[in-house]
Amino acid sequence: MVSDRNNPFLIAQQQFDIAADILGLPDSIRAILRVPQRELTVNFPVKMDNGDTRMFTGYRVQHNLGRGPVKGGIRYHPHVDIDEVRALAMWMTWKCALVNIPYGGAKGGVIVEPKQLSLGELERLTRRFATEISILLGPEKDIPAPDMGTNAQMMAWIMDTISMHRGYTVPAAVTGKPVNIGGSHGRVEATGRGVMLMVREIVRLLGRDLDGLRVVVQGFGNVGSTAAFLLHQIGCKVVGISDATSGYYSPAGLDIPAMRTFTNRHSFRMLEGYSASDVEQISGAALLELDCDVLIPAAIENQITEQNAGRIRARVIVEGANGPTTPDADLILAERGVTIVPDILANSGGVIVSYFEWVQGLQEFFWDEHDVNEKLERIIVGAFTQVWQMAVERKLTLRTAAYLLSVQRVADANQTRGVYP
Ligand code: NAD
Repeated sequence: MVSDRNNPFLIAQQQFDIAADILGLPDSIRAILRVPQRELTVNFPVKMDNGDTRMFTGYRVQHNLGRGPVKGGIRYHPHVDIDEVRALAMWMTWKCALVNIPYGGAKGGVIVEPKQLSLGELERLTRRFATEISILLGPEKDIPAPDMGTNAQMMAWIMDTISMHRGYTVPAAVTGKPVNIGGSHGRVEATGRGVMLMVREIVRLLGRDLDGLRVVVQGFGNVGSTAAFLLHQIGCKVVGISDATSGYYSPAGLDIPAMRTFTNRHSFRMLEGYSASDVEQISGAALLELDCDVLIPAAIENQITEQNAGRIRARVIVEGANGPTTPDADLILAERGVTIVPDILANSGGVIVSYFEWVQGLQEFFWDEHDVNEKLERIIVGAFTQVWQMAVERKLTLRTAAYLLSVQRVADANQTRGVYP
């Protein structure tokens, strides 16, 4: 069980309260935005390969529908719980509003360790979960996407399941699908690409050079490995990488393309067993405290807490993961002059390109990768500039500035629509 201090939903509410206080939001609107609008819990059976039937529990939470259909990923992880899904759904609401795409926030999750299931079991679990939550889903209602433990293949199964129920193909029902069935070019890399762009922008504003910039990345999945790869490509020195199995450090810089080739060849894309000359193995905890310029947490929540915030040596943190830094740690880091590009901005590249995928699916008109990447850059860099300007003008952290902008937009939309009936 997580303590109240590390409960992601209580943390999300705490972050919202800070913004609501500064904005002076009326109590009525505050009460609406502080809690999810809809929550669905599903318990469902899945036939396992050995003939047994096993029960699983999953959730779909829609935090706020004020600005449009809701959008958010589906997570497969043994520690998924309703409060984590609530927090992730609320963060999605702010993220979509911050980059000004016409969505509310949602999130889903299943309590499962996907690595312990065969491909057939995963397919049956995914199709049954999609069916259980299908009362909420649809291109005009709620559009899932991948998150931790899920990938493009699972999105294909969800799209196919919804399409089978309707009797026709509904490409805009999910995003993060393979390109051959209506996925968008650039979607797989979008979150990591956005993280790279945020590193580039913040480093430029802080007057540092990208060439030789020492970067540490926690998590080597979709977000972490893409961010590391793209930063390596633009001349940064990625000195530390970890995943759930192991951590690696090289002051001279790690060979990121080789590490990606290694994980692509090994089961579940894990780094365990990787070795190279001049590379030291280190613990996941030590990795976060390495001497570096930029730290990119790109794994799970609550990695930078009041326990280790005083020992973080990076001057800049760019949050690839959702909720990696607790509010207690935020205060310590702000006092120590560490700049944090917050999750709702730093990892918004994924939902931006998901939005492009949805638009392309609805219009049945597809763009090339250059178009996608160019539009992604325009939107995310534009949002960054707005956040930076507000932070400078009002002497706020980037997180608080990002929350002020996004919470105000969501509050305005809800107020304009009014309370029904
Ligand atoms: P993923 O499943 O592809 O990869 C997760 C990585 O984190 C793996 O390398 C895993 O081994 C590692 N990991 C897990 N626990 C760890 C630990 N304790 N220490 C170190 N590493 C650990 O997931 P992902 O899609 O890359 O998502 C990572 C984070 O980014 C999550 O917080 C997710 O919500 C967020 N995010 C993802 C997207 C997206 O488009 N995939 C978009 C926005 C935000």
